[in-house]
Amino acid sequence: MADNRKTFVVLMGAPGAGKGTQAKILQEVLGLPQVATGDLFRENLKNETELGKLAKTYMDKGQLVPDEVTVAMVRDRLSRPDCVSGAILDGFPRTPAQAIALNKLLEEFNGHINIVPFINVNQEVLITRLQKRSEIEGRADDNAETILTRMKVYREQTAPLLNYFQERELLVEIDGDRSVEVVSAELQDVIRQAS
Ligand code: ADP
Repeated sequence: MADNRKTFVVLMGAPGAGKGTQAKILQEVLGLPQVATGDLFRENLKNETELGKLAKTYMDKGQLVPDEVTVAMVRDRLSRPDCVSGAILDGFPRTPAQAIALNKLLEEFNGHINIVPFINVNQEVLITRLQKRSEIEGRADDNAETILTRMKVYREQTAPLLNYFQERELLVEIDGDRSVEVVSAELQDVIRQAS
């Protein structure tokens, strides 16, 4: 019997690992939209919505926006018509509570997680990349102090999810310290194999 559920790919990796870059490429290749919580918050910030104002107080410090707020925003995003076949999740879930919320959303939207690629890059490379990005893009949260907070938040709140997905036999580790093209090719391979 054909599986008619929506397909979700959950990209995991520390800040600076290249999730956003890879998600944008995958979006074209797989024909699934990239749903990036960081981008959604930044969009709200730019449009000066209430959600944007609230998110800013956390983002500027490198802290996570509260789970309820984040989950509600993702739920709203996944209800849009372009997610009819699923999505590539970039930056969500980021806490155990968000992972549980995602399960509920998958039930609600008749979806399943196909695979969870983990783009692994060591901490020194990450910090160098984020510093470089701050020079190029001038993102408010890419300054030295905030970068360290985001790394800490990642280690404490997000990294435990790697185990969670591994236990569910969804996690596939990819060496992210290689060129964008090489990482992308491997990502596409592992996703194809999981489909
Ligand atoms: P990066 O992963 O490079 O740090 P993002 O663009 O994914 O950057 O996220 C930027 C900020 O947006 C985070 O530091 C956090 O404040 C907020 N954010 C993004 N995703 C989430 C999430 N799932 N839960 C809570 N806050 C989030």
